[in-house]
Amino acid sequence: MKKGIATVALSLLLLPMAAQSSSNKPLAVENRMTQPLSQVMKQIEQRFNVTFSYNVDTAGLSVDYAPGRIRPYSFEETLQNVLGLFDFKAWKQNDSVYRIKPFEYYRRWDSEGQQMTDYLNTLYHNRTEWEARAQELRKAVRETSGVDAMLRSCVDAKPILGKVRKYDGYTVQNLALELVPGYYVCGSIYVPNNKKARKQVANAQGQYPVIISPNGHWADGRYNKDLQVRFATLARMGAISISFDLFGWGESALQVGAENHASSMALTYQLVSAFRLLDYALTRPDVDSKRVGACGGSGGGTHSVLLSTIDDRFSACCPVVHITSHFDGGCPCESGLPVQYVLGGTTSAEMLATMAPKPIMLVGNEGDWTHTHPSIEVPYLKRIYGFYDAADQVQSLFLPGERHDFRASKREGVYNYFSSVWNLVKEQQDETKATIETADKLICFGSTKNEEGKVVPTGTNAPENFERSIQPLAEKYFDKQLYFDLRWAAGLEQKAQKWADSLHLDDPAKTLRVRKLIFTHLTQITRWHNEHLNDCPRGINPRTGEKLREVDLQIIADAAQPKEYHTTLMDGLRAELTSEQVETILDLYTIGKVQFTMKGYYGIVPDITPTEDSVCLAYLKEAREMAIDFKTMKEISEIFGIAKDKCEAYFNAHGRNWRQMYSAYVKKLQAEKKAKQTKQ
Ligand code: ZN
Repeated sequence: MKKGIATVALSLLLLPMAAQSSSNKPLAVENRMTQPLSQVMKQIEQRFNVTFSYNVDTAGLSVDYAPGRIRPYSFEETLQNVLGLFDFKAWKQNDSVYRIKPFEYYRRWDSEGQQMTDYLNTLYHNRTEWEARAQELRKAVRETSGVDAMLRSCVDAKPILGKVRKYDGYTVQNLALELVPGYYVCGSIYVPNNKKARKQVANAQGQYPVIISPNGHWADGRYNKDLQVRFATLARMGAISISFDLFGWGESALQVGAENHASSMALTYQLVSAFRLLDYALTRPDVDSKRVGACGGSGGGTHSVLLSTIDDRFSACCPVVHITSHFDGGCPCESGLPVQYVLGGTTSAEMLATMAPKPIMLVGNEGDWTHTHPSIEVPYLKRIYGFYDAADQVQSLFLPGERHDFRASKREGVYNYFSSVWNLVKEQQDETKATIETADKLICFGSTKNEEGKVVPTGTNAPENFERSIQPLAEKYFDKQLYFDLRWAAGLEQKAQKWADSLHLDDPAKTLRVRKLIFTHLTQITRWHNEHLNDCPRGINPRTGEKLREVDLQIIADAAQPKEYHTTLMDGLRAELTSEQVETILDLYTIGKVQFTMKGYYGIVPDITPTEDSVCLAYLKEAREMAIDFKTMKEISEIFGIAKDKCEAYFNAHGRNWRQMYSAYVKKLQAEKKAKQTKQ
């Protein structure tokens, strides 16, 4: 770079404002070919022979450049070009009917799941490449989930244990564990209590395997009958199960309110609940630390997979009606933090693959998003396990004709899986021997109304210092800034990946290095921008006497960033890439402004000479490299404005008259427009 960035900021302020104005105006666009959305959708219906039904209101919405958005060869691309403008998406109802709905960030088409899986498969071809990715993935998911920040705030409390209730071959005991001061996760532990299990499943120390069992969003939460049957039966067969409330459900609702389940905080809280309950379990003399499993259905499946990804204490995992490559889980407790977007995007199948070569089991069916198990997720997982010669460790139960639930046929799959892994007592698998308890038996504290009429936990076990509102918890234990940072970092990561991928390099390791260079740079300039935005005194432009504009202040603040941000990126890119590829990346940073501006000159300047062409191109390329360090498009436009002024000054100094050429060009456009109108 010939010129320091600080000089750019300075020269911008010293430039007379009038000189800039002509060049900063966008080139005239006389016709946007705008049509109402409803009309465009009718054209798409006719062309592709489909019918749309609507969950969204299209009244008053219009589409610019409508005819150009229809791609005769691709229905999918056409929909994306049109519906993407409004954050709408089409969902197939049958062969010819599609329903238009608001975009759901966590749900995609099956074909997109296939594309994502194909893409992931290009990232690793052997065990070494896979393990590098898996390690990165575990780290990124863990960071993004926020568990470590919350674990640092956790208290080292012993659980409050209830009375042990004895049933046929197993016992149940309630437990409440304080996580952060004043907040308790409540649950129940189901423990084997029969000779067969002791003889066949317990180790020499009398220890049993343990299954951490996160809940899905089933009716009645952890008091649900199907869940109780499963935990009781597994205990009879020789495995301890620990079941606990979702955040904002059951007794958690008494502490924080049910409405707070629909928050990203729930994701972190539920993971930390499982962590701390497992910590507790491993202090028990009857738990074998080498045999730890996770099992849950639906949202409980999401959490089983997250746990197995970020906590290497798990040696078995059985997600039921969950694993997919095209759906992240629709509740904020599953996808409210960008855990599925780390490293440019992942899937629950990829997260589950981090268990390789430990045994895993997927239970799926035809009637929900797991219907792609046989075609997409199971082959994908077997490929990765194949790197370890362990494809047989991927077990799958697929149930045609069944729907999204956790019925007996699915529980049977769970029993079979854990039996195969831990040699559980199959002959004890008789669900009729399970005792279904009422909710009042399963709750730890009990509930009553306080003076304000709010339902709160009480009872003989209830601690006196309950915090009864989410607000103090949120303020004390959740670092809002941390969450904000995680979110934008995930966005930048996606951008960096997209740009690096667009180069279509045939070396995945190189793509990764380029992606990292871009991500680091984007992170640095964004962080700098956000932290220094208010550093500049709101002064006056000494040349014009006018107040400094917002964009001037931004440029001054951003220009003060350390030079290394720029040099590390550029040196790195130049070492990895050809000069054309480097230019491609710079164009992506500056949304193709070099080409766009040159195109304008070709229209405005009659018979542009090769010298004029190369002088302008050089000025614009110089601006492009300066502009990449500035965060907002406004700043970038300002910096290109300086280059444009230089180009125009060059024209004027070499026998041209910019103002005349520009006004002639505008007149020509107007005349053409008029001619076209009279024709019509
Ligand atoms: Zn949820």
